Amino acid sequence: MDKCLFCDIIDGKIASQKHSETALVYAFYDIHPQAPLHILLIPKEHIHSILEVKENHASVLSEMVQLAQAIAKKEAVDKTGFRLVFNCGPNAGQAVDHLHLHLLAKRKLAWPPG
Ligand code: 5GP
Ligand code: ZN
Repeated sequence: MDKCLFCDIIDGKIASQKHSETALVYAFYDIHPQAPLHILLIPKEHIHSILEVKENHASVLSEMVQLAQAIAKKEAVDKTGFRLVFNCGPNAGQAVDHLHLHLLAKRKLAWPPG
């Protein structure tokens, strides 16, 4: 079983600023925020990247999206807008090999991204 930095955050071995959680997903504030609101949503189970997502991960993926919806509503950015991002691999700048969904909001986000 792989373990990593984000597994240590889930296990409480490394401190994090929790936003919220569900049975399968943990959401916390990014340590280097790229927007006034920057939250990471991670599965409590170690999944390396979006490339490793299989059919049996349907529940956890669904819960990640539903928690992102709930956070957007709680933070009142559901109407102003927000961005959800999965970085995968070196060209996308994936730095932590544990699946994570970025939720960015509370500023105008440029497109295309850098
Ligand atoms: P990636 O570049 O892999 O898509 O995103 C990894 C994210 O994790 C980055 O935005 C980075 O700031 C964040 N990060 C890395 N280490 C930590 C940490 O120890 N605590 C928190 N809260 N965020 C972290
Ligand atoms: Zn992990």
